Amino acid sequence: MTRWEDFHLLPGVIEGIAQLNRAGLCVIVVTNQRCVAKGLITEADLQQLHGRMSDHLVQAGATIDAIYYCPHEIEPPCSCRKPTPGMLLDAARAHGLDLAASWMIGDSDVDIQAGKNAGCRTALLSMKNQTDTEPEHRKASTCEADIVGHSLLEVIRQIVP
Ligand SMILES: [Zn+2]
Repeated sequence: MTRWEDFHLLPGVIEGIAQLNRAGLCVIVVTNQRCVAKGLITEADLQQLHGRMSDHLVQAGATIDAIYYCPHEIEPPCSCRKPTPGMLLDAARAHGLDLAASWMIGDSDVDIQAGKNAGCRTALLSMKNQTDTEPEHRKASTCEADIVGHSLLEVIRQIVP
């Protein structure tokens, strides 16, 4: 996403973040933004977009404590691009978080790997409808996460019952 016009929240995001806020948890977003390296958006514009997103969420009752992003290309490798744990380690240091007591919620294997690499517990948000007829290869990738849910609220319900 490089334009505010393209910004849409997934269902349950505001309520989900609000639940984490109420539970007293620190909510941090970590995002790969290769679009900066590709020249699709400047870093200043990306930061402005993130600020606008945070403001929008706060007004809706959901507070994000910080947003970390990796602006780099895949090559050469950097220390922040997920699945490398750099952003999670930086966030933990800056906010005094215990990574072993933290959860990484993500919708891709890269997110789950980053969480594992940082020593976090991991929750996979699987948007696809999963049934008993699910192909084996998808089961293999999803079972690496500690928990799996099909919506953010379903995942968060398992994290803060
Ligand atoms: Zn990076």
